[in-house]
Amino acid sequence: MSLRVGIVGTGYVGLTTGICLAHLGHQVTCLDTDAAKIARLSSGKAPFFEPFLDEMLRQVKLEYSQSYESVVPHCDVIFIAVGTPSRSDGTPNLDYLNAAATSLGQNLGEHFTVIVNKSTVPIGSGNWVESIVREASEEKTGAKGAKRFAVASNPEFLREGSALHDSLYPDRVVLGSDSSEAIELMYRLYRPLLEQKFPAPSFLPRPDTMEAVPLIATDLASAELIKYAANAFLALKISYINEIGSLAQRVGADVKSVAKGIGLDARIGTRFLQAGLGWGGSCFGKDTSALVSTAQEYGLEMPIVKAAKLVNARQRELVVDRLLEALKILKGRTVGLLGLAFKPNTDDLRDAPALDIARRLIERGAKVRAHDPVAVEVARRQLPDLAIHWCEEVAQVVEEADALVLVTEWQEYRELDWSSLKQHMRGSVLVDGRHFLDRKKLEAAGFQYFFVG
Ligand code: NAD
Repeated sequence: MSLRVGIVGTGYVGLTTGICLAHLGHQVTCLDTDAAKIARLSSGKAPFFEPFLDEMLRQVKLEYSQSYESVVPHCDVIFIAVGTPSRSDGTPNLDYLNAAATSLGQNLGEHFTVIVNKSTVPIGSGNWVESIVREASEEKTGAKGAKRFAVASNPEFLREGSALHDSLYPDRVVLGSDSSEAIELMYRLYRPLLEQKFPAPSFLPRPDTMEAVPLIATDLASAELIKYAANAFLALKISYINEIGSLAQRVGADVKSVAKGIGLDARIGTRFLQAGLGWGGSCFGKDTSALVSTAQEYGLEMPIVKAAKLVNARQRELVVDRLLEALKILKGRTVGLLGLAFKPNTDDLRDAPALDIARRLIERGAKVRAHDPVAVEVARRQLPDLAIHWCEEVAQVVEEADALVLVTEWQEYRELDWSSLKQHMRGSVLVDGRHFLDRKKLEAAGFQYFFVG
């Protein structure tokens, strides 16, 4: 049966969730305080790049709004999907969550409503949101007491670049709540997804191996911890192979063979074992910091998670080391970066290694040119003060370049005409930050090939 759903925060997570729930047959309204985003969406345009986003937006029926007042009273389920970025001390900034919870409390309807935290939030936030909503509701209703609601946690595990696929065909759904009524309603909401009983979009076919989706129904704190623990584990898997990669390089071993050799052990698995310049993006750095700071509040050290962060930071410096090794002097050199987004198939620049590397190079006196298949316009808009020469075409990046760095493993970079590009460069150094390019082909084209990881 169709439910009325509100999504608060129409970013990567909120919009994807809204689209998928609408595809399952629910009546969804996406709410955001960003007027430009709502205007863009209302005119049928996607606010960011994500594969199949345009197609899905054309296919589903979604409403958009900036007004809590007109949306919230009518909803059975409301997802909070606002940002929870890191503060400078590593703790998450919960101001957006606080504001959203307050507005929700002020506008709850007469019927039972489930408020679902989909934002990644520190352990205990479910209870905190509950108290904010309750107070705001009581203040609004006066002597009548708060409206009937319950809070649930439903952490999100999508990967940018395959967000819609991951949301339609998830590995599992995690629900945390201390209210059985909330869990029941959430089960109704997700039933078609859990049973995979919805028509698959033609451009996003259901994987052949897809079965019913496991549901983990648990308490609030466990659901919140599952999200942090999952991200920290993935982050440390990457840092682990990068640490092994550094040793492999010293002893003359091939880290790709090593990764395959250990990854084919079913207990380990091959995914997240690609050595390179490490993770970026809006989640791993922030969530590992939040996990460490939460543990600290309870008097616990998290040495494994801290080490994973340390190794990741070191990988970015290794790129500069490789360039120094090859070029000897960075001052006055021109370095071309291939890829700006933190991973392929997204235009998200949050904690993107490319920007960190660019800043380090500029600090050392180098000139930086950068290309990305989709993120150049976003970069230009978001980083007007960063002294990078933004390039719409790869051909512009190589002009006068002493060295190139492959930062983001976009498939199209593998297919470039490297011989022709090499002819337009001043130098011949190429640092492959992702073990992604064909070394033999590059060397045949006249490049000196270096790698990181
Ligand atoms: P985002 O920055 O893309 O989107 C957040 C949206 O919330 C913005 O559009 C903003 O305008 C809106 N917003 C802020 N305050 C608001 C308010 N009071 N009312 C209504 N809207 C408001 O963020 P995101 O990447 O979608 O991440 C959202 C949450 O999901 C974060 O906690 C993040 O850690 C988590 N998460 C993200 C990913 C990912 O890959 N991006 C994956 C899993 C979990």
